[in-house]
Amino acid sequence: MCRKTPLRTAPDQWHAYPVSEPNSIGAFFRAHGERYIQTYRPHQRAIAFIRSVRLCRTPGLGRVVYTCKGCGEQVTIYKSCGNSQCPVCQAIKREQWADALQGKLLRIPYVHLVFTMPHQLNGLARSNKSAVYNILMRAAWKTVLAQMKDKTVLRA
Ligand SMILES: [Zn+2]
Repeated sequence: MCRKTPLRTAPDQWHAYPVSEPNSIGAFFRAHGERYIQTYRPHQRAIAFIRSVRLCRTPGLGRVVYTCKGCGEQVTIYKSCGNSQCPVCQAIKREQWADALQGKLLRIPYVHLVFTMPHQLNGLARSNKSAVYNILMRAAWKTVLAQMKDKTVLRA
C-alpha cells in the first residue's frame, strides 16, 4: 500500500482536511452549494443531493485508516456518501463493475454502445418493462445491423 504521493487538500474552508479531489463537484458544492440553495430554493431532492455530495470523501462522513503491514505507513480514506447521483460514488461503482466484467470478456475488440429512450416514455417503460425493453433491444439491434452495413460509418 505504500503511497508516497501526499493526499491533496481542498482550496476552500475545508482546507485542513485531505480530500480525494480538490477540483471535484464536491469541492464546488462546498464552496457554493449553500449559497445556491439559499438563492434558488431548488427541489428538496436537489438540496439533499448537494448536501450529500459536498460531504462525500470528507471528514463529515467519517474515515477509515489503513496501515501498511510492511512499513507501517498510514493512509486515511474518507468515506463516500453513497448517493446514487454522486459522480464520485458512481465512478467507483462503475470501475468495480468494469473490473468484475473484465474477467468474463473474450480477448477480442469490443465496442460499447448506449441506447436511450425519451424520458417521456419512462412511465410506459416502468409499467410495461418486458414489451418496452424488447422493442428497445430489437430497435437497437436493427440500428447496429444497419450501421454495420454502411461502410462509411465504420471508418471513424
Ligand atoms: Zn459520493
